[in-house]
Amino acid sequence: AINSRIETNMVSSRHSDCPLHGMTMVHRFFDNVSRYSKQIALECGITGRKYTYEMLAHLIRRYGSALTRAGFKKGQVMAIVSPNVPEFAIALLGASAIGMPVALVNPTFTPAEIARQLSTVGATAVFGVAPMAELLKQVAQLCPSVRRVILLGPPQEGFVCFQEMLQDSGDLFNENVDIDVMNDTFVLPHSSGTTGVPKNVMLTHFNVGSNVTQNIHPGTSRNQLATDQYQETHICLLPFFHSYGVNGIMMIGFDLGARLVTLPRFDAASYLKAIDDYKPTLLHIVPTLAYLFIKHPALKMDGFERLHTIFCAASPLGEKTATQLQEKFNRPDLLIQQGYGLTETSPGVAQTPLNNDTFGSCGRLISRTKAKVIDLEDGVTTLGPNQQGELYLAGPQIMKGYYNEPEATKEMISEDGWLRTGDVAYYDEEGNFYIVDRLKELIKVKGFQVAPAELEDILGTHPAIAEAAVIGIPDEHAGELPRAYVVKKAGMESVSDAEIRSFVDTKVSSHKQIKGGVQFCDALPKNNMGKVLRRELRAQFSQSK
Ligand code: AMP
Repeated sequence: AINSRIETNMVSSRHSDCPLHGMTMVHRFFDNVSRYSKQIALECGITGRKYTYEMLAHLIRRYGSALTRAGFKKGQVMAIVSPNVPEFAIALLGASAIGMPVALVNPTFTPAEIARQLSTVGATAVFGVAPMAELLKQVAQLCPSVRRVILLGPPQEGFVCFQEMLQDSGDLFNENVDIDVMNDTFVLPHSSGTTGVPKNVMLTHFNVGSNVTQNIHPGTSRNQLATDQYQETHICLLPFFHSYGVNGIMMIGFDLGARLVTLPRFDAASYLKAIDDYKPTLLHIVPTLAYLFIKHPALKMDGFERLHTIFCAASPLGEKTATQLQEKFNRPDLLIQQGYGLTETSPGVAQTPLNNDTFGSCGRLISRTKAKVIDLEDGVTTLGPNQQGELYLAGPQIMKGYYNEPEATKEMISEDGWLRTGDVAYYDEEGNFYIVDRLKELIKVKGFQVAPAELEDILGTHPAIAEAAVIGIPDEHAGELPRAYVVKKAGMESVSDAEIRSFVDTKVSSHKQIKGGVQFCDALPKNNMGKVLRRELRAQFSQSK
């Protein structure tokens, strides 16, 4: 039985403690290569170009050597601004092997958004793909710390050609660069945490390695390690720049010896075609993708014949949607599994059990994870089962902190190592967790983070706006959509909502656009410290419906 143990209102995982390793993520990959060498590790779902585990190890060494030859060193930050392609893994692990922390950047961001992220980590080099050449040129102009832009694709003036770097002899590769597994950063994804603009999350080799082990621990998932007869096949549609994609799919996949099929962008036809062609064993989805299956008039079922699990995380998968998914597939043996996590927790925290009897719950704690629910009123009382409060977490997967943001880190992690999630939750007597609301400002659109502070900063630069606040409103398809509440300056009454929408929407990437609309008001609701009461705006909105 893996029911959670509940002690003095602190919940601990009932899974046995998984072993924790002291390996860098690159050594861990090489270790996997010794088991799975001839298996296919990565394959592009569009072009079919593929790499075995052994080939990847070879190319990681060459790429690491080429980076060293070009003068890159331990501690300098590499940024990857790329859609999902197989070479993402070479770019990531080659840089990591020589001790470079890797910043993970959404390639659909605008040049200004990318440059902002790169500047905050002082990135010295960027990896991207050829169709992004023009965009990355603009980024490099905006961000003087960037010395080289490395492009996957044919050689181009002004860029370093990735494929040429892979021709390196490999002689400068040092297998044993001095990396402190507990303290050195493996990846730097982006997250706004509980408040403010996005920050760079330092996930150490230990954080990510632990989370991989926690996830492949027996009883946590139906995934199996590769053998001569069996290999997991996972379709990598969810982006590698998010911790769900890079750690929850790619790094876990490598430990399983899985065949990972990459898709560079979402389009329903190529996703369904990849399912048909590759017959995945597990599908990683976000709730928005569940509707693709539920609403599809005639799904071809052949592609699902090897499927054992649909794993959904990043936003709440409601009981109704989970049931609809189950009905659509009409296969009692198919597991619809929900996971809960945060970028700040590498990302896995909880997963539902290996049967379908807890729809609506986001799961039970994975191995070595502890949780407590704190009273919202007094901020200190640890609540028992079935009482709602703020969820706090502890475990080896908790981030080291936000890069160069000691104050923001202190706000998030207590001295004794508890991370505040900003989520309102409760747990039942069996240790199933339920997320019921969000205290933090964060909005999630199709599983992507949108930080209200970022949109409010842009709104604040409009000449007609005195002040503005942004909240998320519920949307069946996207989960949530950003909606702006705007107070106009005196004498500026003529400005229209369409004008304000286009002012913001032209400056941000598509998931941040204020598709939830603009609402003008005379004043924003505030507490006596002058802080905007977003909850009140959310309540106002739901009453108006
Ligand atoms: P991110 O850092 O982008 O992964 O966002 C983390 C946040 O997403 C969490 O703090 C939750 O608010 C939300 N989230 C993730 N998974 C779930 C889930 N299964 N149910 C409800 N909310 C979730």
